[in-house]
Amino acid sequence: MSETPAPLSPVGVLGGTFNPVHYGHLRSALELVQSLQLEQLRLMPCAAPPHRETPTCSATHRAAMIELAVAGEPHLACDSRELRRSGKSYTIDSLMDIRRELDAGQSLCLVMGCDAVLDIATWHRWQELLDWAHIVVIARPGWHLPQAGVVAEWLESHHLAPEVLRQRTAGGIVIQELRPLAISSTEIRNLLGVGKSARYLLPEAVLDYIKTHNLYEEEPHFMNFEIS
Ligand code: ATP
Repeated sequence: MSETPAPLSPVGVLGGTFNPVHYGHLRSALELVQSLQLEQLRLMPCAAPPHRETPTCSATHRAAMIELAVAGEPHLACDSRELRRSGKSYTIDSLMDIRRELDAGQSLCLVMGCDAVLDIATWHRWQELLDWAHIVVIARPGWHLPQAGVVAEWLESHHLAPEVLRQRTAGGIVIQELRPLAISSTEIRNLLGVGKSARYLLPEAVLDYIKTHNLYEEEPHFMNFEIS
């Protein structure tokens, strides 16, 4: 764990598939910027997720939707570095890469919802993540942190008060309770797939993009019948 004082505002990174980006991501990102006084929070779309199927919606489309969603908000940005790498998109590689670009004394925070923390012990080189960044865990409706086992012990042993974040550049885990918004990309894809509206769950500009590029359209099941 680095003990270098970090007077600069921390940079945050929220990784995910963002298939598509929605207000649950965006509002959490902005609230974190404010509560942790981050210089910036970057939404980083995963090109080839190691633990789930690569989405049929391309990483280029997913990044373009993030760009539209954060346009005009100076504290939020899209970080497309995983689109420029080949092979699986391992978070540890991205953190090492970002760390090289930051000032030596600047804190880096990897942000994740508590659903993502539950399977963190299956992530590539997961115990090295804290060598490069702090981890900020955000509560998410319907999900709870583990109370026992290796991940629970890891959370407990690295727990840090939010005020201490900028005194070290990496190595601590902060738990943040933000405004709960029960929105998921899965739900949005399901709504669009059966021709229902997803309006007010995600930015209008993103919905327009989805419509223009015919994303998430599937034949509703009741259309799949044969006429004899
Ligand atoms: P899917 O339904 O396809 O799994 P998702 O809505 O969970 O997608 P991801 O792109 O997988 O979105 O999420 C990226 C990150 O944002 C994850 O760390 C996830 O926990 C977090 N996140 C997603 N939705 C919310 C939400 N409504 N509130 C807080 N965090 C969220």
